Amino acid sequence: MEAYAQHTGKLFIISGPSGAGKGTICKRLIEDSDPDRMELSVSMTTRPPRKGEVDGVSYYFVTMEQFRENVLADGFLEHAEVYGNCYGTPKAKVIEKLEAGIDVVLEIDIQGAMNVKKAYPDGIFIFILPPSMSILRKRLTGRGTDSMDIIDMRLSKTLGELSYIEEYDYVVVNGELEEAVDRVKAIVVAEHSRVTENINELIERYKEEI
Ligand code: 5GP
Repeated sequence: MEAYAQHTGKLFIISGPSGAGKGTICKRLIEDSDPDRMELSVSMTTRPPRKGEVDGVSYYFVTMEQFRENVLADGFLEHAEVYGNCYGTPKAKVIEKLEAGIDVVLEIDIQGAMNVKKAYPDGIFIFILPPSMSILRKRLTGRGTDSMDIIDMRLSKTLGELSYIEEYDYVVVNGELEEAVDRVKAIVVAEHSRVTENINELIERYKEEI
């Protein structure tokens, strides 16, 4: 007889302010995980691809019209406008994976996470926090992709976003990347070790074995 293991897929929502490093953490989490057990959801966006980004891998890059069609067809688990571009999490793919027992990771902004919470309260919500505002400023400046005005806008938005931490299940400070990744991995393991309602089935199996 197989040892007991819970194989139901779980939805992990990794979010936090822009520049907190959630993208890098998610990338590492997926690289180090078994592809049959965990997948990163690929979002749809109207933003143009950046250098090196691949359609269908980084994002599904679509036109505004295609995006609107998806909204009308109820195709998104959540969607939001972030800094003038639209982003959405394709619903059918997420549900399909979860039903197949595969964990799904969403790397989305805070308003998106709050919308997922309404649609899917069973999700596990992880807030990635930068170690300080000055380090966040350095990281955003270092990316070299945004003007000073945009960086100032992102930083003031971040201050407002911190008030949402209470809505999350976990907070991970991304000071040292390896430690932050280890903490997120530990959360995944802990969530799969929870006592769930099907624990009684397990107890019955133990009784039958005697
Ligand atoms: P970027 O354009 O830099 O790739 O992403 C900008 C922001 O949009 C990031 O905070 C990212 O997490 C967020 N984002 C990416 N995909 C989605 C999505 O499907 N839904 C929402 N709400 N935010 C997303």
